[in-house]
Amino acid sequence: MSDNSGNRRVRVRFAPSPTGPLHIGGVRTALYNYLFARQHGGDFIFRIEDTDTNRFVPGAEEYILESFRWLGLKFDEGVSFGGSYGPYRQSERRDIYRKHVDMLLDAGKAYIAFDTPAELEAKRNEIPNFQYDATTRMQMRNSLTMPADEVRSLVDAGEQYVVRFMIEPGREVVVDDIIRGRVVVSSSILDDKVLFKSADMLPTYHLANIVDDHLMEVTHVIRGEEWLPSAPLHVLLYEAFGWQDTMPRFAHLPLLLKPEGNGKLSKRDGDRLGFPVFPLEWHDPKSGEISSGYREKDYLPEAVLNFLALLGWNPGNDQEIMSLDELVGLFNLEKCSKAGARFNYQKLVWFNHEYILRKTDREVAELFRPILEEKGITASIERIETAVSLVKSRVNFVHELWDNSYYLFQAPAEYDEKSLKKWWKEDAPHTTAELCDFLESQDDFSGAVLEPKVMDWIASKGYPVGKVMNAFRVTLVGAAMGPQIFAITDFLGREETLRRARHALSVLS
Ligand code: GLU
Repeated sequence: MSDNSGNRRVRVRFAPSPTGPLHIGGVRTALYNYLFARQHGGDFIFRIEDTDTNRFVPGAEEYILESFRWLGLKFDEGVSFGGSYGPYRQSERRDIYRKHVDMLLDAGKAYIAFDTPAELEAKRNEIPNFQYDATTRMQMRNSLTMPADEVRSLVDAGEQYVVRFMIEPGREVVVDDIIRGRVVVSSSILDDKVLFKSADMLPTYHLANIVDDHLMEVTHVIRGEEWLPSAPLHVLLYEAFGWQDTMPRFAHLPLLLKPEGNGKLSKRDGDRLGFPVFPLEWHDPKSGEISSGYREKDYLPEAVLNFLALLGWNPGNDQEIMSLDELVGLFNLEKCSKAGARFNYQKLVWFNHEYILRKTDREVAELFRPILEEKGITASIERIETAVSLVKSRVNFVHELWDNSYYLFQAPAEYDEKSLKKWWKEDAPHTTAELCDFLESQDDFSGAVLEPKVMDWIASKGYPVGKVMNAFRVTLVGAAMGPQIFAITDFLGREETLRRARHALSVLS
């Protein structure tokens, strides 16, 4: 793969801000970073970008970590994982940022500005489309326009200030993006971004992000398209620090679009159409609002990852089912699309069905067991496994196994009206009673043995097979549904089969 990272070990990071639950788009970003790191034998870092204290939401960091535990995406280093480039939580790196802000100030690449919110507002009213940049900075209250000793005494007196990045106008800033190619922006349209605020002595996102990517030796920045507008500024910051030779390569991933394709996917689309936009259920600590999650909606993490992997990339053929390991082998960052990817959530239901089919019956049985226990049913894992084998092809979700197999674990408490009307005709009590007597004479209830015997018996009687067997089915299941009848009698065994059939006879006659 061509890139300018030379012989450096590939290092990528997922760097969420703990401002709420992780959006499903963030999961896709993390997945692409994971795949890229794995296929290059590199490192996948988890960094928390929490320098915006106003937007901090308690519990968000733990939620994000729990999401990745559920999904099975493992980080190599970072918050809660350790590593030799820490600390990995930005709020614990204040001194590092301060030092780097001073480096820019000393080099004359940044300056101190004292303009109050009211003063900035006044300027905005005075100058149309006001922007703090080369055209306006000399009209403002900052260290470029004020004598040095005045600046120093204001700072010493505790006057609030920000540090702004001094952007030189008239330059072409090139962002060489792996997915988007060469993006060129004129530096004249950029404003002198705030890098640091004395109010909380914390850097802004831009400074902390660049400093950390550099110090953590990040080689590739793979992130959502919404960060593309920040990239030219980031390129200029790398240059200002003199780090251009080790600047990471950028890859801005395509937007996730509404299922209909018009516009960006939002939480409202999920509410409107009934699908989650978060990996796990989220309980908002402020509003108390609960938002649904894929885990609680009974999606398999493998299905979610497979589905997300294909939102913005495909293997170049029509292969759709790919395990995480296969994805590591096939994924290609350079082949990611620039165009937004429609979030066709119905496809995820299909993936879930396919992943249930691909699991062993034992694996599915392990997932089904707690649901049975909740219904008050205890059965051996072998019994559950057999039940799963009979009905799993009919379900999209593990919880749907119950509606398709409850009768295997409990005798019918009632009989479905429609099924009775169709199959419990005048002669049904008679043929069923006769069939019971015949079954009484049989010892081996395994399907392969019993089926031909019953068929011979029915033939010898000259009864219509469908009529006899469907009436019999209703006595065992409570309705005309379920898998092959001899699979059911096999599962129930001689005693339970006869008990159910005779009970129905007494109730229905
Ligand atoms: N903290 C940013 C976020 O929340 C990170 C963006 C980036 O990856 O540079 O997504």
